[in-house]
Amino acid sequence: MKKNINCPCGNNLQIEYEEDVDLDKNPESLESMLNGTFMSYDCPNCMKKHKPEYKIMVSWKSKNVKFEILPELDRGEFYRRKKENLPYQTIIGFPEMADRLAIIKDGLEPVIIEALKSFLLAKADENYPDREINAWYYGNGPEGIEFHLDGIRADEVAVMRIPLNVYEKTMGDYKKHPKNELFSSLRVRSYLSVQNALRPDALK
Ligand SMILES: [Zn+2]
Repeated sequence: MKKNINCPCGNNLQIEYEEDVDLDKNPESLESMLNGTFMSYDCPNCMKKHKPEYKIMVSWKSKNVKFEILPELDRGEFYRRKKENLPYQTIIGFPEMADRLAIIKDGLEPVIIEALKSFLLAKADENYPDREINAWYYGNGPEGIEFHLDGIRADEVAVMRIPLNVYEKTMGDYKKHPKNELFSSLRVRSYLSVQNALRPDALK
């Protein structure tokens, strides 16, 4: 697909991107999605960085997943859609795409990671009720699963770790009660995300 981007400097960037990305065939796409350079374009005139979001399909057959990635701007429209049964999962926004792919790459269960984010964000909301705070998966190791929270202070992330035994315990709860209030609140049709539990009433 070809698109034009109008740069504020007056320059017009013509870009071309794949609407269907197969991560098994294009490991370099996976790498660029994980490191945030996917669909990033510098204006050759003023060097401004453009990171447009368009709807794309991402398949990763070796991990048994297929996603439609919607632009963040389509979030409201997604919640207004009629009920549907899609043969793939939905992700909204490229940052969430990078987050989900990293979770899958590290062999973790996305629903459990979104549940852990909801624990962290509930705590953050008690301490900073007026801020819009996001939690992102960062990695995992012997000290636990690391998350970065942004929105508490400008240009800073807060590093939070959750011990692996909490992950295991939450996994146990999920296996016993996959449709309890917590896990149900993380899903809207094809879309799994802590954003579903946090969305304002206007999007319900
Ligand atoms: Zn420019």
